[in-house]
Amino acid sequence: MKIQTAIFDLDGTLLDTLGDLCDSVNCAMLRHGFPAVTEEQTRVRVGNGVRNLIRQCIPEDKCTEQMLDICLDEFRTAYNQRMMNRTQPYDGIIPLLKALKRADVSVGVLSNKYDVAAKGLIRHFFGDLVQVTYGERPGVPRKPDPTSTLQLLHELGGDPDTTLYIGDSAVDIQTAKNAGLTAVGVTWGFRSAEELRQAGADTVVSSAAELLTLFENGMLNVDAICKAFTGRGFAFTYFPTAAEARAYLTDVCAGKSVSLGGSMTLQALGFPDAFRYGTAVHWHWVRKGEYFQKPDIYLSSANALSETGEIVNIDGTGNRVSATLFGPKQCIFVCGVNKLCPDLASAVERARNVAAPLNAKRLGVKTPCAADGKCHDCKSPARICRAMAIHMGPPLGMEKCEVVLIGEALGY
Ligand code: SF4
Repeated sequence: MKIQTAIFDLDGTLLDTLGDLCDSVNCAMLRHGFPAVTEEQTRVRVGNGVRNLIRQCIPEDKCTEQMLDICLDEFRTAYNQRMMNRTQPYDGIIPLLKALKRADVSVGVLSNKYDVAAKGLIRHFFGDLVQVTYGERPGVPRKPDPTSTLQLLHELGGDPDTTLYIGDSAVDIQTAKNAGLTAVGVTWGFRSAEELRQAGADTVVSSAAELLTLFENGMLNVDAICKAFTGRGFAFTYFPTAAEARAYLTDVCAGKSVSLGGSMTLQALGFPDAFRYGTAVHWHWVRKGEYFQKPDIYLSSANALSETGEIVNIDGTGNRVSATLFGPKQCIFVCGVNKLCPDLASAVERARNVAAPLNAKRLGVKTPCAADGKCHDCKSPARICRAMAIHMGPPLGMEKCEVVLIGEALGY
């Protein structure tokens, strides 16, 4: 389902505000002779409103409510003067917001930072790329209470089923859950991926580009996809990141003979260099002409996967698809999330009109698709599409046939 609304946290998600926050806290601390705080201390104390941040920075034996009010005023005065000194958008955020605007995704920002500062920062850095911004407002409970989130969602005209809530802290994840929204954790901010997963994030991303693929492809329903493949007898494993998938495949292939079909995905994952522990590798991309099709494990990608559990591949020579059907003891299809299609018809369509033209272009063959990116069902001597294999279940006699799905875009 297409994502139509995005609600972003601000500090640690859109903007790296740590330096200015820390400097402003220290203006207040040093005025009273309290020890300065480090950026690292500030990092772990933000996320729950500035009053809580200041409370944690004043020495415990000096932290009366009166002192807290004074320091909070001093912090606000200092922050109003310096909040754009060192603050910057994180890498890829502005291109991401521009892409969301082009795709008609409504964007709002919800922050526990006080309202004037939140609105000023968003206006300065992002202009009309953000439609509505809510900071902390008198009489409205802070995050993780869902009140502000639901008000913001209403103002954006969003539907909870097609909205992502994106933040960098456990408070954000809890806010999303309390509001009944899908929670996306980001790792470039103030907290770790582990903390976000423990807080219950539906998914965790480590770059703005990865976040954009969620909007382009929709949220993965990994459980449903797993059921579709395992229901047909395939093994199925999901990894959110390419690094996790690479580690898994390296271990699975340890001490085995492994053959690889031509694959941009496997190349992007770092194979064959990533193999270790006595893996005997045969890959005709590396050792030309070597088509070893009776290995312990055959690794291939696919041109498309259907969410109904089918695997689609087109081949020219036939060596790549034939080894996925007969010969190896075990076959593993390794695919990025960009290969997923809703059903078999759209998977075939992807294989013919996305994967094959891109491969024709990569190979530099003289086919019409290499020129315009669309399949013309050509009769050209250079035609690269000579056979199509659709796996509807594991081939009989193969010990194991597994789909490894990776939550990143990889290959064609
Ligand atoms: S059939 Fe021809 S035009 Fe179509 S994708 Fe294959 S090579 Fe390209």
